[in-house]
Amino acid sequence: MLTIRLSGHEHFYPLCDVARLFTGSIPRVEDGEIHVDTDYDATIESKLREGKVSTLLTDGFAELTEAQRSITEQEDLPSSRECKRQLYVLLSRMLNKTFPWGALTGIRPTQVAREVSCEDDLTRIYGVREDKAKLAFATMRGEDEVLDTTNPDGLHIYIGIPFCPTRCAYCSFVAQEAPRKTKLLPSYVDAMLKEMDLVLPKIERPIETIYIGGGTPTVLDDELFARFIRGVFSHKEFSNLRELTVEAGRPDTITEDKLQALRVAGITRICINPQTLSDATLLRVGRKHTAEDFRNAFKLARSMGFDVINTDVITGLPGESSEEFCDSLKQLIELAPENITVHSLSKKRRADLSREDVLREQEEELSKMEKMLTFSSRALQEAGYKPYYLYKQKDTLGGHENVGYQKGNTSCVYNVAMMSDQRSVLSFGAGGMSKRVFAGEDGNPSHVRIERCPCIKDAIQYIENVEKMAAKKVLFFTENGE
Ligand code: SF4
Repeated sequence: MLTIRLSGHEHFYPLCDVARLFTGSIPRVEDGEIHVDTDYDATIESKLREGKVSTLLTDGFAELTEAQRSITEQEDLPSSRECKRQLYVLLSRMLNKTFPWGALTGIRPTQVAREVSCEDDLTRIYGVREDKAKLAFATMRGEDEVLDTTNPDGLHIYIGIPFCPTRCAYCSFVAQEAPRKTKLLPSYVDAMLKEMDLVLPKIERPIETIYIGGGTPTVLDDELFARFIRGVFSHKEFSNLRELTVEAGRPDTITEDKLQALRVAGITRICINPQTLSDATLLRVGRKHTAEDFRNAFKLARSMGFDVINTDVITGLPGESSEEFCDSLKQLIELAPENITVHSLSKKRRADLSREDVLREQEEELSKMEKMLTFSSRALQEAGYKPYYLYKQKDTLGGHENVGYQKGNTSCVYNVAMMSDQRSVLSFGAGGMSKRVFAGEDGNPSHVRIERCPCIKDAIQYIENVEKMAAKKVLFFTENGE
């Protein structure tokens, strides 16, 4: 058991993030202590006294010297981040392990890149590996180029359809299987259009982008999809947008009629996501479409005038080798989509494996994902793609990243606005999260204040409570927020 005793502070959650990164186990917070199941015993004290943080290994790992057991040297960081950084350094010494993003857990690397003066600082202070420090800086520059073109008071709209044709084995979203909910879909569309009718006229902010995502919005049948798109774009508030994007994620839901409905509404950006071009993997993860279905959907969209197509791939899909992943990516690069987004899969632990097997499996997976991500970054940059947004999910094995790459000047402004936490987002539909960003007094982008307004997740409850949800969002965006 690993025990972490906190004294003089309550930064439980940042420390839990670091403990989880090293152990792969979920920490428990009990009586002012953090406990993590491990196959070794150790006790660590994390102290904050008179503004000074120190971290000490008080028990276990007898082979470490006195100097190695204690961390007192301080970086000029907020105390929660300094506690986390020191714990990372101590656990690295104890377990002889480091991670590509070092102590950057639970925080966007591009945000931290904005705070330090150079790539070397990310490595020196936070233990970020050199190639990742370079990636963070390159992406920060890409993000800033996009943000500079947006209005700080502008609003970005998310419209969510949380239904999919089938559920992928690795899915961590709230999406439900549409075939089981066919009767619900028209009412769901009507509820969302009603929510827009009630909210949009009351919000006096310039709307810059719309992202229609999911789930899979194109899971609606041709007629309902066309009615939905017509309904959305009948709102005069959406008449002066700089960007419209629709997620048509599952190639098996794409038809000529749906693409035509999007073209009539003036939409030229679309996401078609193969995740992999290995049919064996697609079958294994329950995607119910083939690589050929993806190619056909891609060619159809191209022939109908969609001039920016994003395609997602995932590293670490169950049973997929690094060779299969690299081969998929090469094939994708040959198709020349304007955007390619590389996601890292967050792994669920298998309950039937022993702890030793879990750790061994994790080591193997980590080294496989390393190969895939290193290959992606090199191959995409050699093919002329540049990273323009980056985020990390907490539960991703090894704390790996998701990166959006663009060719030319084709970045998705919505994605940058959303992921950078620098712009406000108004979300329609069940499970959506609206976000209001307040600028800091000093104008420093790292000092913004963010308030969030969640929407009911369950589709039936959402339909029944749509007026309430609309009123809540109007209040959220119109009250002064002080
Ligand atoms: S397409 Fe995406 S949202 Fe839908 S089930 Fe698969 S992973 Fe989940």
